[in-house]
Amino acid sequence: MAGIYIHIPFCASRCSYCDFYSTLQLHEAGAPYVEALLAEAGLRCGELRGEPVVTLYMGGGTPSQLQLPLLSRLIRGLREVIDLSHVEEFTIEANPDDVTPHWCETIKSLGINRVSMGVQSFEDDILKMIGRRHDALQVIDAVKCLQDYGIDNISIDLIYGLPGQTVESWTRSVEQAIALRPRHLSAYGLTYEEGTRLWHQRERGEVVEVPEDQCLMMYSILVDRLFSAGYEHYEISNFAMPGYHSRHNSSYWQDIPYLGLGAAAHSYDGRVRRSNPCDLRRYMSTVMAGKTACEVEQLTQWERYDERVMLGLRTSRGVDAERLREDFGDEAWRHFIREAQRHIDAGNLSRIGEKQYVLTSKGIMLSDSVMRDLMWEE
Ligand code: SF4
Repeated sequence: MAGIYIHIPFCASRCSYCDFYSTLQLHEAGAPYVEALLAEAGLRCGELRGEPVVTLYMGGGTPSQLQLPLLSRLIRGLREVIDLSHVEEFTIEANPDDVTPHWCETIKSLGINRVSMGVQSFEDDILKMIGRRHDALQVIDAVKCLQDYGIDNISIDLIYGLPGQTVESWTRSVEQAIALRPRHLSAYGLTYEEGTRLWHQRERGEVVEVPEDQCLMMYSILVDRLFSAGYEHYEISNFAMPGYHSRHNSSYWQDIPYLGLGAAAHSYDGRVRRSNPCDLRRYMSTVMAGKTACEVEQLTQWERYDERVMLGLRTSRGVDAERLREDFGDEAWRHFIREAQRHIDAGNLSRIGEKQYVLTSKGIMLSDSVMRDLMWEE
C-alpha cells in the first residue's frame, strides 16, 4: 500500500513562526500550478509500482485557499491518472476562516473525508500576535459547519510555548479543543526557525521565549487532559480517539512508501528520498516540459536504520528489535539492544513482549537524547 501527498504552496498571509514553503501568489499561479501537479502525477505515477493508494493528503501552505473549481479540477484530474478507488483516508488541511457551507459541501462531494485544521491556540491576542487570520470563535464555527455536513473526522493542530502563553492559558486552550471533540489532535512545541518574523522579533527582544520547564509542563498537561478525555497518545505529538489515528502520517512513521507531488514535496519509496524544489516557477516549468523536478537522495543503510529507530520511538508501537535485526543485521541489532538496556535501566524505555521497545512517559520528556543514543550516527 502507498500514500500520496500533495503540496499546495499558497497562503493568504504569512504566520510569524512559519518556515514552510509557501507563497502569496495564488491568484496568478493557482491554475497553472494545478496543471503542473497533474502533469507531475502523470510523469511519476509509475513510482507507486502498482501499490494501492490508501491515503491521500493535501497539505500546505493552505489547501483551503485553492479556489473550489481548481480543487475539483485537481482531484478529478488525479483520478484520471492514478487509481484512487482504494483511498480510505483523504485529508485536506484548512484554515478555520476558509471553512464555509459551500466549501464543506464541495469537499464532501469530492470524496474528502478528513479535515486537519490549523488552530494553534484559542487565545485571540496570541493568534493576532502570531499573524493567524482567524479567532477562536471562527474555529468553533468551522468545526460546527464541518460536522453539519457530516465531516466528523476533524483534526486540530495546536502549538504550545507561544510567546505570551502561560500554563493557565494553555490549559484553557486544551480544554476548549477537547470540548469540540475533534477525532484527532496534534500539538507541537514552538520552535523559533531562523529567518522567520518571530525569530527576528526574539532577536530584537520584542518577544520573550517561554522557559523550557514551562513548556514541559504544558506538554504534560496536554498529555494528561487528553488521556482523561479518552484520547490515545499514539505518537509524541499526536493524539486520537480510538480508531482515528492518522493513517497517512502513520505511514511516514512505519516506513510505508509515499509519493509527494508539488513544489517542496518529498517522496520516499523505502530506500530513496526524492524532494521537489522549493521554487514554484522552477517546479512548474520543469514538469510542464515533461521532466521530473526532484532531487534524489539514496539513503545509506545506517541512515535508514536511524530513521527507523527515530520514527519508531516517536510512536506508541515503538521499535521492533527483531525486524531491525532482519533488515539491518546483527551489528545494528547489538548496538540497539545494548543502548536500549541502558535506557530501560534508567526508566526511559520499556519493553513490550520480547522485541518491542517503547518510550516511557519519562523517556518521552527526554526523547531527543534517548533517540541520539540508540541511533547509529550522531
Ligand atoms: S502556518 Fe500555515 S497558514 Fe501560516 S504561513 Fe505557514 S503554511 Fe501558511
